[in-house]
Amino acid sequence: MEVSTGNESPHSHRAYRGVIDLLAPHACVVCGSHMCSPTRGPLCGDCFERLLAESHGPVTYQCQTCSIPLPPRVGVCERCRRETYAFSRLTAACPYRGVAARVLREVKFHSRRSLIPLLVELVSPLVHHDSTSVALVPAPSRRSTIRRRGFSVGRELATALGRKLHLDVLDLLRQRSHAEQKKLAYEGRWSNMLRSVRAVRARHLPQTAIVVDDVFTTGATANACAVALKEIGVQFVEVVTFAMEY
Ligand SMILES: [Zn+2]
Ligand SMILES: [Zn+2]
Repeated sequence: MEVSTGNESPHSHRAYRGVIDLLAPHACVVCGSHMCSPTRGPLCGDCFERLLAESHGPVTYQCQTCSIPLPPRVGVCERCRRETYAFSRLTAACPYRGVAARVLREVKFHSRRSLIPLLVELVSPLVHHDSTSVALVPAPSRRSTIRRRGFSVGRELATALGRKLHLDVLDLLRQRSHAEQKKLAYEGRWSNMLRSVRAVRARHLPQTAIVVDDVFTTGATANACAVALKEIGVQFVEVVTFAMEY
């Protein structure tokens, strides 16, 4: 989903980044330090270690719906108790802060496609696919965003995940154009968001669709995706994201 951080770059920023990359090809995109030895893509070893430390890893007690770590015996987190979601389960690799937030900002606002494999590395262990009728479905992006960025983060993530995990990727969701969501209040945004996504009809539908997105914030986008997919006949919807705000 699209989250404005207020740091959105002007159109020319992408070209500018390209020049920086050419001048300093071995600088870590998060801390800017020079990388003497090859590491995992454009992230230095230290930042990668920090990212791993931030990611959840196996948690003993977690929310039954959204999988965030919880104290013992809580069962369902406050947000999931408050909202009724159309998806049955959500899993995210890391909280939306620290290195994870910096990495996503680089992907989204500086068009760093080269960070996608890193996201896939952390997200892929979250996808459990024991059923044969499972497909990955990218969360949709606005057309204007794809034009500006040069790619859709959801589609890139889903495609790379599908390749790694040998799962089908079905591009079933489209973003409807509507008034700027970020200007709307929370409640308004929620109901507006429900109508913001539509699903295209497909001849072969999976029983379970796993919506792939970069970040989960209010849950409004993920919910709109799940509602749209169920409308066209998908039985179960799960959501997997790289980061999650909580
Ligand atoms: Zn670094
Ligand atoms: Zn929850």
